[in-house]
Amino acid sequence: MADVSGTIFDIAECSLHDGPGVRMTVFLKGCPLRCRWCHSPEGQTNAVETLHFPDLPDRVCGKILSAGELAEHINSLLAFVPGSGVTFSGGEPMMQPEFLSSVLDRLEPGTHSLIDTCGFVPADVFLMLAKKVSCIFFGLKLLDDENSVRWSGQPSGRVIENLLLLDSETTTPYRLRIPLLHTVTDTPDYFSKLEKLCSRLKRMECIDFLPSNLDAGAKYPSCSRIFAPGFDTAYDCVLPENLKIKAPCRLLRRNEV
Ligand code: SF4
Repeated sequence: MADVSGTIFDIAECSLHDGPGVRMTVFLKGCPLRCRWCHSPEGQTNAVETLHFPDLPDRVCGKILSAGELAEHINSLLAFVPGSGVTFSGGEPMMQPEFLSSVLDRLEPGTHSLIDTCGFVPADVFLMLAKKVSCIFFGLKLLDDENSVRWSGQPSGRVIENLLLLDSETTTPYRLRIPLLHTVTDTPDYFSKLEKLCSRLKRMECIDFLPSNLDAGAKYPSCSRIFAPGFDTAYDCVLPENLKIKAPCRLLRRNEV
């Protein structure tokens, strides 16, 4: 099997909230979106970069390795944890499709695999990878172009098309993960659009609404960037009681994300 290289920026060897069971989470570098609440700015660019911290040594963020090397590392660690699995997150893991596909092809048979995606990738790439994994966490954000560009830097059409394809063209189990952000996604207009979209989905398992991350701005200075989300990140949003969505919806606690 020809090997291909990719860039990752972190590995969490024991995560509890990135899928079923105890999981290893691999963070791939590079993301096509620029969400204003993103808590991983160091994962947005695809290049290896140097992070600067006051009173601490600089740190290189990003490591290039081959699919074979990464798969071997995953296989060797998961072999000791029955019922475990691997989650590919980022950044946007589907931004490195050949690398991710090759890693998935090299996992031990029966390994539970999950991709946590924002959905903003070409449809053929999205479907190819979605069909290879055990489960998808689909990070849905804004649902109209104007707000999507304003808050995430890109229009929403491709994301929504891929979500509909995931539902209709694959059998991969999936759930939606939606950041619940004050004045951004906790508005009557947003919930109305979400209800309409969800009425078209036949296989969605559930929706996890994610609270805003109170520490989201912590890493921006190290990337020489300013955190300016444009909404109150400390506001505790609630879900409306009369949400007309058939699948279970729950608002996670901050320690469950
Ligand atoms: S999709 Fe995720 S990683 Fe990418 S910018 Fe948005 S929050 Fe950050």
